[in-house]
Amino acid sequence: MPRPILATIHPAALQHNLARNRQAAPDAKVWAVVKANAYGHGIERVFDGLRSADGFALLDLAEAWRVRELGWRGPILLLEGVFEARDLELCSRLDLWHTVHCDEQIDMLAACKTHVGHRVFLKMNSGMNRLGFTPERYRSAWARLNALPQVDEISLMTHFSDADGGQGIAAQMACFAEVTRDLPGERSLSNSAASLRHADAVAASDWIRPGISLYGSSPDHPEHLAADWGLQPAMTLAAKIIAVQDLAQGTSVGYGSRFVADVPMRIGVVACGYADGYPRVCPSGTPVLVAGVRSRLVGRVSMDMIAVDLTPVPQAGMGSEVTLWGRAGNGVVLGIDEVAQAAGTLGYELMCALAQRVPVQVSD
Ligand SMILES: *Cc1c(COP(=O)(O)O)cnc(C)c1O
Repeated sequence: MPRPILATIHPAALQHNLARNRQAAPDAKVWAVVKANAYGHGIERVFDGLRSADGFALLDLAEAWRVRELGWRGPILLLEGVFEARDLELCSRLDLWHTVHCDEQIDMLAACKTHVGHRVFLKMNSGMNRLGFTPERYRSAWARLNALPQVDEISLMTHFSDADGGQGIAAQMACFAEVTRDLPGERSLSNSAASLRHADAVAASDWIRPGISLYGSSPDHPEHLAADWGLQPAMTLAAKIIAVQDLAQGTSVGYGSRFVADVPMRIGVVACGYADGYPRVCPSGTPVLVAGVRSRLVGRVSMDMIAVDLTPVPQAGMGSEVTLWGRAGNGVVLGIDEVAQAAGTLGYELMCALAQRVPVQVSD
């Protein structure tokens, strides 16, 4: 028998979360962001659930190739554009739209021999200071691109640095609107946080670019839980109890004896550890579901095992289901964001870090 741990991808949840994003921006087209192997879910596994998107956005040419292999003929956008000149050939061959964020990418386009015009998204650095042309330089970059015979159509994009926090998007929005006011072309502005939190402000854009919300994690946890946004988990990580221990008062469990029982208690040892992608930094008290009932992690996370408190679930024992995040068999949900918060990180990092050794199934 294989080791009893399993990740399950839920296409119905992906579909639901996509619809939830459309609701936030009913007139916009949706780039389903599937970079990083669909945030760890697997591009091939999410494709069916997301196929009603208007396009797929990602970073990696190999991933773009995989989306085409799945039979997708619609738009694909490279969010960081090309990395070297010969990538442009593949853009033509696979019909990829690509971001242009720097002079070097315009130079590559100007030097390339191409029969079909490229469709580009010109990126403005409106304050994030990662990629893009500054507001001062944006219009000259647009003019340069516009003069190239290699370029067919120019769309306009930017990315918000504080859509999930108190600062919000107003200043970046104003800057983008001012600089682009009379430029033609479609606009693409918003990630999940901007689409959900600032729906009014971004409603006028042509494309939204949700990633994390498609996978059912809240873009602004803990201010809002995924459920507050009406999102459903697209990934469940579950394992089974492979041993049970009775701890006498004053005895401990795990490396470093970090958890000491202050009363006699039963604990379950679960076939999941940091080598499966469960964060080693999760402290005692991190929530888990045992047979669909909320309980807690006790002691240190080790490579292949964790221990959980069975006190709230006396009927649980060998073989009982333990849900690390996602939906338990009885329908109860433990948000990946809660576990991420206990680990001092975000749902993004946990889902992307699901380990290779964990078998994955797609539910029907
Ligand atoms: C990753 C990414 C997104 C999606 O962001 P989420 O926070 O996951 O919704 C949108 N736009 C760009 C440019 C990105 O790199």
